[in-house]
Amino acid sequence: MYPVSLEELINEFEKLPGIGHKSAVRLAFHVMNMPEAKVEKFIGAINKAKTNVHLCAKCQNLTDKPLCDVCASEKRDRSTICVMESPKDVTALEKTKEYNGLYHVLHGAISPMDGIGPDDIKIKELISRLTPEVTEVIMATNPTVEGEATAMYIARLLKGMGITVTRIAHGIPVGGDIEFADEVTLARAMEGRREI
Ligand code: ZN
Repeated sequence: MYPVSLEELINEFEKLPGIGHKSAVRLAFHVMNMPEAKVEKFIGAINKAKTNVHLCAKCQNLTDKPLCDVCASEKRDRSTICVMESPKDVTALEKTKEYNGLYHVLHGAISPMDGIGPDDIKIKELISRLTPEVTEVIMATNPTVEGEATAMYIARLLKGMGITVTRIAHGIPVGGDIEFADEVTLARAMEGRREI
């Protein structure tokens, strides 16, 4: 239907999350109409992000420095670690300005149905951070079946280590996504967390 190179571009766009065929065609045609310099800038931004951004050596969040801003900050409370599924969840909670502890990003949740086990997410990395300085671990995984299973798994691992494990409470709708929760809801959920 279209020249082969244009078909290929449409195909690549279609592989992106949330992009259907129609949107892919629209984006590809948009690129065709962009001035050369803007296309170069776009490609450069993709390359730069991919090259410079890596996981924080401590919390596994995305950063372009050796340690992310939260881990590097001297103002954060090092006794509390909030465990979340994705970097986007951390951004959402940071926006509430209600939390002053550290984070740990799992990059997913345990999901036997999808073949994702405990070793496939950053649980080992969390365990290795649990120095005596850490007194509370807040399980702020999504309130989904996978998120709950992950919270319970980690809570069991931490049992007997002298660390209080809490789970964020009501506020986030079941089956919902922390990433899309509004700030007030997310702040309430943090306040209402309970020991598990
Ligand atoms: Zn970090």
